[in-house]
Amino acid sequence: MTTSESDLLARVPSQLFIDGQWTDADGSRTLVVRDPATGEVIREIADASPADGIRALDAAVAAQEAWGATAPRERSDILRRAFDLVQEHKEDLALLMTIEMGKPLAEARGEVVYGGEFLRWFSEEAVRISGRYGLNPEGTGRTIVSQHPVGPSFFITPWNFPFAMATRKIAPALAAGCTVVIKPAELTPLTTLFFVQLLVEAGVPAGVVNVITTSSSSDVSAPIIADPRLRKLSFTGSTPVGQKLIAQAAEGVLRVSMELGGNAPFVVFEDADLDRAVEGAMVAKFRNIGQACTAANRFIVHESVAEEFARRVSERVAAMKVGRGTEDGVQIGPLIDDRAVAKAQELVGDAVERGARVLVGGHALEGAGTFYEPTVVKDVVAGSAILREEIFGPVLAITTFADEDEAVRLANDTEYGLVSYVFTSDLARGHRMIDRLETGMMGLNVGVISNAAAPFGGVKQSGVGREGGLEGIHEYLNVKYTLIPA
Ligand code: NAD
Repeated sequence: MTTSESDLLARVPSQLFIDGQWTDADGSRTLVVRDPATGEVIREIADASPADGIRALDAAVAAQEAWGATAPRERSDILRRAFDLVQEHKEDLALLMTIEMGKPLAEARGEVVYGGEFLRWFSEEAVRISGRYGLNPEGTGRTIVSQHPVGPSFFITPWNFPFAMATRKIAPALAAGCTVVIKPAELTPLTTLFFVQLLVEAGVPAGVVNVITTSSSSDVSAPIIADPRLRKLSFTGSTPVGQKLIAQAAEGVLRVSMELGGNAPFVVFEDADLDRAVEGAMVAKFRNIGQACTAANRFIVHESVAEEFARRVSERVAAMKVGRGTEDGVQIGPLIDDRAVAKAQELVGDAVERGARVLVGGHALEGAGTFYEPTVVKDVVAGSAILREEIFGPVLAITTFADEDEAVRLANDTEYGLVSYVFTSDLARGHRMIDRLETGMMGLNVGVISNAAAPFGGVKQSGVGREGGLEGIHEYLNVKYTLIPA
């Protein structure tokens, strides 16, 4: 580790942040955070108990009324200052993510830009929360439709985008006037701890944002979700955990937003611009080392161009540089842990057993860190696990189709529905695919779709609710209708 890295790590708080104070966990318990590129312990931080979780909720509940009553402009200004502070600390945030999560530094910088945009976007949306006023059809009454903050909200975020998943929830909640308890993933808690300091500097009052870090996610989360004072649960993570949390939230009929897993099809038609499709494939597959919910999981390529497409992506993949994300030119960092490497190995092994061919890669790397080679497998047959499950690693799996109906059938043949990528030069076909694909989002001739101004979210088992766009703030607003005699 370099001195600038250790200096940065020393500036990351190691305690819980509750009611505007940094505080030790119950019994001073701690958990360790590691660098996945080396396996080294990089920081020891507070490990919250269920009682700590409730303390954080107490603070959010106590702060709710005053925060909900602040002028929208005041909330907007705070978020805008937070955006500016993120720009000032862009390098720190990026390096921190690279160290704790493993993504290449250039991508971490990209995440700071993307994540920061939610602060700017929702600072702009905070002042546009509107209502309606009108006469009822009978002419006997006047109706007022107004919007109000949902109330104290609990956020659970994943390790793969430690910064953006936090801002994508915190920014709309604060804009709407909600207070927050956030529990980042235990594998990557440092980015959120660092970021909350910027929120405080931006003027977020005590109790409005509280952070708990814990190695016992389920034990700490369950009592918060069961507490009748909580009004909203927003989760980003895997579908099985999301299903459990929805069940827990049902008890209190909580409002929920669920950003869950994906199994994105990447469909390349015979009329596609192949240069564009290859470019799109590289980013849709290998961004974040393949560990994105939006990662292209199944490359469904027309049989007449599959050979050429596979040859071109293989050339690109063979030239990718693997290493610690801080090194110059690295495109593929480590996977998050041993389990992720084992999963990639298992999925490739199963595909090969059923007849697929490995064109590039196909192995875990020996030595320190949890690395898996960027890989291309072709001729993947129906029924292979790699087509059903989220790969969450740098493995590009190619299967083929003969006509448009088959492409649609294959693309929709999954319980997920987060994002789909389609490459075609035929405009009418592009529009047909918008209608026919069961998906919350679609990239038409493009491999990255995320944008703070767009509604991010899935259908089917990929989730409910939307983050970002005009829709995002409504996840944190309740609609109230009032009638007044005319
Ligand atoms: P995960 O579900 O294992 O964990 C996500 C978070 O939930 C972590 O903070 C974890 O500590 C917590 N958690 C785990 N079990 C819990 C429980 N029983 N009760 C309460 N909290 C619990 O997911 P992950 O491995 O961190 O992230 C990868 C998954 O997230 C992938 O499936 C990916 O597709 C999904 N994801 C989705 C989106 C999206 O926007 N749709 C974005 C990023 C990641």
